[in-house]
Amino acid sequence: MKPLSAKIAGVAESATIAISNKAKKMQREGIDVISLSIGEPDFDTPRHITDACITALNRGETHYAPSNGIPELTGAIAEKITKENKFPCTPQQVIVACGAKDAIYEACEAVLNPGDETIILTPAWVSYEPCIQIAGGKPVFHAINPKTFQLDDSLLERVNRKTKMIIVNSPSNPTGAVFNKKSMQLVADLCEDRDIYAMSDEIYEKMVYGKEHISLASLGDMAQRTITINGFSKAYAMTGWRLGYAVGPKEIITEMSKVQQHSVSQATTFAMWGAVAALKGDQRCVEEMRKEFDRRRIYMINELNAMGYETAPAEGAFYAFVKVKGDDMEVASRWLDKGHVAATPGSAFYAPGWIRLSYAASMEKLKEAMKRIKRVG
Ligand code: PMP
Ligand code: GLU
Repeated sequence: MKPLSAKIAGVAESATIAISNKAKKMQREGIDVISLSIGEPDFDTPRHITDACITALNRGETHYAPSNGIPELTGAIAEKITKENKFPCTPQQVIVACGAKDAIYEACEAVLNPGDETIILTPAWVSYEPCIQIAGGKPVFHAINPKTFQLDDSLLERVNRKTKMIIVNSPSNPTGAVFNKKSMQLVADLCEDRDIYAMSDEIYEKMVYGKEHISLASLGDMAQRTITINGFSKAYAMTGWRLGYAVGPKEIITEMSKVQQHSVSQATTFAMWGAVAALKGDQRCVEEMRKEFDRRRIYMINELNAMGYETAPAEGAFYAFVKVKGDDMEVASRWLDKGHVAATPGSAFYAPGWIRLSYAASMEKLKEAMKRIKRVG
């Protein structure tokens, strides 16, 4: 048989999904595994959102819709961006995709030519590199100083004639760090001076604890060269709905739209009606979840620090990023095999020596997990 695609053979499996699958398999075998490996809110989707989706289904919203999204949703997103993220956005600058991940992939396909370089700031989430690779681009890594988890001028050393795009993810998965104004401005100045596109993944924007979230596109003229990625998975506990979106310059959205039309066509029609209710409805549910994450965050960081572990600044998202002694793969295996706690080794995020623990689990589970980690060391 002829060999399959060399391009895909060179792409790694998603470590976050692989570890979560392993934990689920152990659970099915009857092992009491506490899974802190995947970043998924443990809350159910708020009732008014599921109700709106059910009503849409019963109304017959089961047909194809405009491929960039139903106008009610693209309109609500444009309104939200203009008001909350503080840069102008029209519905024509919005594309609703099958999850933020799909939007990221489409953006890479739309922007990159073979060999175009894209800077990934590490530690970084697992899917940026594969999306760039599949699109034919070349990932270039820039490690952030773990003492501050902010950017400095050393970033400029990564830039050359081939640099096409930079990906920024604040609040960050996996570190939980939130970029301050200075870091964001550094990226904005760089992009404007050197004619570079930016992708700003702001999916954790609602999960910030005592810090201000800054949208990259709100700085200077950055809206003209930034693709802002967001979605419903985290803020509204809608991971399984597979709904995300991108907003950006119309020319880029038009190209992303072609990728979407020839692959998934559109996001699910009735699911989009749920998302309209999410954006237009009462936002108290978002704040309630944020407060609960904050409570868990404080508990978990205190426990880990009391056990002697150093942690990254846990200012956003729902991850504790922990510096461990020894090999992170070995430590994570020990926690899973002996302590039955699933966590993601930092190596998956280009940060060997660290481990990511999600605190999007009940307080009861977190307390038990901390006991187990203390026991197995
Ligand atoms: N970006 C980041 C940083 C994430 O952690 C996730 C989590 N899956 C995503 C994007 C994608 O989210 P989704 O596809 O579920 O909308
Ligand atoms: N983003 C989450 C995580 O990092 C969900 C899994 C994934 O899509 O990678 O765990």
